[in-house]
Amino acid sequence: MNLRAIGEFGLIEQLQKKIKTKNKEVIYGIGDDCAVILKDKKTYQIITTDMLAEDIHFSQKYFSPYQIGYKSVAVNFSDISSMGGIPKYILVSIGLNKNISLKFVDELFKGIKHLCNKFGVDIIGGDTISSKKMVINIVCIGEVKKENLILRSGAKVGDIILVTGYLGNSRCGLEILKKSKIKNQKSKTLIKSHLAPAVRIKEVQEILKACKVNSMIDISDGLSGDILKLAKASKVGVRIYKDKIPISKECKKFCKENNLNYMDIALSGGEDYELVFTVEKKNLEKYKKLPFKITEIGEIINKKEGYLIVENDKTMPLVDKSFNHFSSLP
Ligand code: ADP
Ligand code: MG
Repeated sequence: MNLRAIGEFGLIEQLQKKIKTKNKEVIYGIGDDCAVILKDKKTYQIITTDMLAEDIHFSQKYFSPYQIGYKSVAVNFSDISSMGGIPKYILVSIGLNKNISLKFVDELFKGIKHLCNKFGVDIIGGDTISSKKMVINIVCIGEVKKENLILRSGAKVGDIILVTGYLGNSRCGLEILKKSKIKNQKSKTLIKSHLAPAVRIKEVQEILKACKVNSMIDISDGLSGDILKLAKASKVGVRIYKDKIPISKECKKFCKENNLNYMDIALSGGEDYELVFTVEKKNLEKYKKLPFKITEIGEIINKKEGYLIVENDKTMPLVDKSFNHFSSLP
């Protein structure tokens, strides 16, 4: 059997079954957005790593070196935010073609440092190799107060499902960037969502102040797949309402003009790096007071009821159409 057949997450599942941790300070290893390590009485250290490869995650045709640096940090900070934590340190590993200019590397690190400075994060190391195509891998070490730790596995039956921001913008941005013929369209919001996704660290701290969050995951591959990961980790079912999914007017307009289905884009587009999370129903009013966009999109149901999506009172199975490294790419 090859990797295409089991897909990225099938492989991760197999690795997870075969890998057991030995050190007692490892609270969680493989399976969540970050690994969780006991730091002291009040704190956990949380560690994540995310890699971006040229012509898979970005193209130098439309990403500047600054933007590659920025996004490589943003995607790692996103995993830290989804555990309720704040980033502290990063290590930067780069594979670069020998013909790349020093100016390129300088710009790359400007992008990295920009986001690190914004969140008070130190660059503490990395690795450098030669590579035909560019690859950049960041390890991010963060911290979370024990009482703030949010796992994918904490969703409870009866919880409401909420999501930050809008879904689908990043994918529309990518489509615009890929097709130079429509590049000049007024679509700054969409392009920016793809090149420099928002980092929701501060928002999560605000959410945590408002009340207890039972579970959370960041949307890197697409809502349909990422909510299923949360549901499976929590051993619960989900019901999502299509008409509640937050889709920006820019995304709708772009999709209409380009014959794309904006609902499919929002459900499976990926790389929005928004957060989907669950809270007890009684807390809904507390979230409505927060000064940034949060939308209720569904509820956690019993596992036996399954994974469902509702459109015009018609209930259908929620199918995972989100990005998968070994199955989605040609
Ligand atoms: P995310 O999209 O949040 O970055 P992934 O889907 O990449 O998370 O990974 C899911 C889980 O599997 C994480 O806990 C991650 O650390 C783990 N994981 C992914 N790839 C590997 C690997 N090659 N070896 C060990 N663990 C892995
Ligand atoms: Mg993640």
